[in-house]
Amino acid sequence: MGKVICIDPGHGGYDPGTHCLDNSLQEKDFNLAVALDLKKILEGLGITVVMTRTTDDSPEGITDLTKELQARCDISNAAGADLFLSIHANAGGGVGCEAYVWPGGVGATVGNDLTNALAPTMGVHGEAVKDGGPNGRHLYVICNTNAPAVLIEVGFMDSSDITKLKDHLHQFAGMLAVPLSKFLGGIAPAPVAAGGVSQVTLTTALDNHSAATDAKIADALAALQAQFDVTVKALIAELKG
Ligand SMILES: [Zn+2]
Repeated sequence: MGKVICIDPGHGGYDPGTHCLDNSLQEKDFNLAVALDLKKILEGLGITVVMTRTTDDSPEGITDLTKELQARCDISNAAGADLFLSIHANAGGGVGCEAYVWPGGVGATVGNDLTNALAPTMGVHGEAVKDGGPNGRHLYVICNTNAPAVLIEVGFMDSSDITKLKDHLHQFAGMLAVPLSKFLGGIAPAPVAAGGVSQVTLTTALDNHSAATDAKIADALAALQAQFDVTVKALIAELKG
């Protein structure tokens, strides 16, 4: 049986998390967008995904912070997840991504891989991987999930990072999917050749079909045709098969 990941879009419902300075984007919505993209990609790679929320609401609509954090852990624990990934965005005026983990465990390795995947776009904030366990920041979901847990802060909403967070909103999942798929034993996303496009990028573009993505799909198809000398028809049959 394949491995199971529990994806936890941080905050939601009554709790917006942080927000950017002009309040045009709230953390809970950023987290959910990345998480839903990631769910789609990982499922496409044959990985079982359990979500703590899929809408703008806290798990089970609970509005007590400790209880709703416990509900997130319960969902992961009941599913017997092999990895718990909480997705967040930061505040405090810094720049770059960071991951909180239980130090020394499998989660620390995954946290390191995830920050490495985001670093070319976001940079890292200080020491990329930090102690979220009982001797560190004592983060509830790190301390109360059975699975190795990683809480990733993609970037800061109240600094110059916000431009990157908005511009790359629908690309973060593809970045995170590569190391996650490796850890979870999914089908390896196709490597990205120089100037080329990965299969993950293309299938995401196809799934999120909209006017905005039409141009990206056309570009991706043209690049792939040139790269691999295949027809669009053969390519679509391959991707949808
Ligand atoms: Zn948060």
